[in-house]
Amino acid sequence: MSRNYRRGRKKSTTPYIIGILILVAAAALSIRGVLGHAKDPSAAAVNHQTPSAESSPSNAVPPAISSPDPVSAGGIEYVAVEKPQEEIYKGNLILVNKDHAYKFSDAVKLVNLYDGKASSYKVSDTDIKIGSETLKALNKLFDAFYAQTGVGNTYIISAYRSYDRQQALYQREVAEKGESEAAYWVAKPGTSEHHTGLAVDLGLFDSSGAYHEYDGSGKYSWINQSCYKYGFVVRYREDKKNITYIAYEPWHFRYLGIPHATQLSKLKLSLEEYIELLRSYSYDKPLKITTDDGSVYNTYFCKGQTVYVPKNGDYELSGNNVDGFIVTLKVS
Ligand SMILES: [Zn+2]
Repeated sequence: MSRNYRRGRKKSTTPYIIGILILVAAAALSIRGVLGHAKDPSAAAVNHQTPSAESSPSNAVPPAISSPDPVSAGGIEYVAVEKPQEEIYKGNLILVNKDHAYKFSDAVKLVNLYDGKASSYKVSDTDIKIGSETLKALNKLFDAFYAQTGVGNTYIISAYRSYDRQQALYQREVAEKGESEAAYWVAKPGTSEHHTGLAVDLGLFDSSGAYHEYDGSGKYSWINQSCYKYGFVVRYREDKKNITYIAYEPWHFRYLGIPHATQLSKLKLSLEEYIELLRSYSYDKPLKITTDDGSVYNTYFCKGQTVYVPKNGDYELSGNNVDGFIVTLKVS
């Protein structure tokens, strides 16, 4: 059409035709220019998106601030939330040891153990304090132990300890055993799990009132073997002394909550190893935990302060006392 038109005009006057040709050429060039510009960025955008979509799974996690929209994984929608740094040092799964001291805060609600305890066990001191969630779980554990064995004379001899209390215990140990040996038996102040309100020590007293160390043997072995069902673990295992740098303590129980106590016990790990293991799980690739009652939980780690949490439904969040958060949600 345009060719016929130009040819038609060619027959009239040459200067006109030359002028028109120049105009047509200029128009064509400018159109090509516009198209060229329009095309370049889109091509660049396509090229830009393709490799990033094909890159490693770790790159698939969108940064929280630039992507506030929910992301979906395993049929669950997650949203990214920003948590304050100090939250990393709070929660049921905090790792407290010689390398990761407890950051004292008022996060744990402390209650009086004697006032709140069930009748299925005893306390050595009416002033002992304990975390409220730990106490509830402890009551369930000892009610079950009593129902199973009829034994009701187990004592809680220690739970929450202030920094000053731990300092006094540690100095006594140093005086008895010397500096190099002491920390193996009593944690240095600041590095004891007893600061958290999540740990308890058991002890025994005979009818004459004489104290006996609790070793978890005989009828008491039920406690050490079944405590995970109530959210507790034997924190300092015989076979993990080279990792915990703490002597075997069959009397020291740490509350973690039922799913994590179950998984840690099943894997026979120290808490140090377990917290490390959780690092390899993310919201789109969670660890599945099945508890003895058939409940199924998903759990995963989020490094730093950006935490992916389910958009709907309940979940539990705990810092690891090192560098991030562990999310736990019941899926069935
Ligand atoms: Zn202890």
